[in-house]
Amino acid sequence: MAMTSLRVRRHRLPLWALVLTVVAVALPAIATSRAQGAATGCTVTYTTNEWSGGFTAQIRVTNLGAALNGWRLEWTYGGDQQVTSAWNAQVTQSGGAVTAVNAAHNAVLAAGGSVDFGLQGTWRTADPAPTAFVLNGVPCGGTAPPTPTPTATPTPTATAPAECAGAAICSDFEDQTGTVPSGAWQTTAPDCQGTGKVSVDTSVAYSGTRSLRINGGAGYCNHAFAASTRDLSSVGPVVYVRMRVRHTTALPTNHVTFVSMPDASQGGRALRVGGQNGALQWNRESDDATLPEQSPAGVALSTPLPTGRWLCLRYQIDTTAQSMRTWVDDQEVAGLHVDGVPTQDVDGQWLARGTPPRPTGLRLGWESYGTGDDTLWFDDVALGSSPIGC
Ligand code: CA
Repeated sequence: MAMTSLRVRRHRLPLWALVLTVVAVALPAIATSRAQGAATGCTVTYTTNEWSGGFTAQIRVTNLGAALNGWRLEWTYGGDQQVTSAWNAQVTQSGGAVTAVNAAHNAVLAAGGSVDFGLQGTWRTADPAPTAFVLNGVPCGGTAPPTPTPTATPTPTATAPAECAGAAICSDFEDQTGTVPSGAWQTTAPDCQGTGKVSVDTSVAYSGTRSLRINGGAGYCNHAFAASTRDLSSVGPVVYVRMRVRHTTALPTNHVTFVSMPDASQGGRALRVGGQNGALQWNRESDDATLPEQSPAGVALSTPLPTGRWLCLRYQIDTTAQSMRTWVDDQEVAGLHVDGVPTQDVDGQWLARGTPPRPTGLRLGWESYGTGDDTLWFDDVALGSSPIGC
């Protein structure tokens, strides 16, 4: 059995340029000379974000052998990495040897099936990514694939609804028949109501001929949202969201919100996506914590939003660990990344308080607290327990 070198790509960059390190190990169906039809194998993608002193890793295991009821993935760190926590698996470490065992909810790994889990850890002098893995005693390691196959960002796909069929929310608004939201979307103003207006627009759309339009007014209180009627309490453990948004006006200096998710971890108060100091941000209603921190360095780690065209906003929220990621047009926004380890200017303030979010609903609209108005549109909105590409 020829073992060729592994394909390993690594970069180390400052925090403002967190990059993905992807290691792929694949071994399709090894047949040994004495195996009796026991051809097995596995593929592991190990994707890390690293910074000085810390890292997170997202690990996907694909089972190329027979179905497993209970799985155990082992590897050895070549550096001084120390795992400090994990999600969707129980991870233990002895010296450099690491063992990840399934969680109760993902014990069954079908033939050809995949499972994802993640971990976070610390390192001091070196943190090379592992290159060999063993699944239930069977090495995965070996032959590098012809091309690096894994990516952390799903490939852009066609527009809704086909690619999000089965997701908790999968809406292109084409089923809206009136001029105001109906059916799966209902107009709401959670706090107070003024001149803000929600409508179904038949002249501007990303897909088809209909979209959700918000005429958002400045000042408190002109809140206007369309709320999905879906209860999202059981979506997860990671909640994935994808939507198309079109702004008319750049994000203002003052704080505004255009996505609001009732959050059980805040007693129903909202986890919000919006803007402040001209850049995209997350805000937690219960304590007004922001992501990134609103220092100049923090704001610089986020991004303004384009106007006059559709953008693709994607984010994911882990409901079991402090982990959130955000993409605009498939570019990850470094400042909108909670990795569980407090980082100054990014998630230091966010992690100082609060617990992992548990979104229970989705509201799209506009909420301003001072100056800042906008006319904006939403289309092709999807939310579910699996990643949904742009
Ligand atoms: Ca549409």
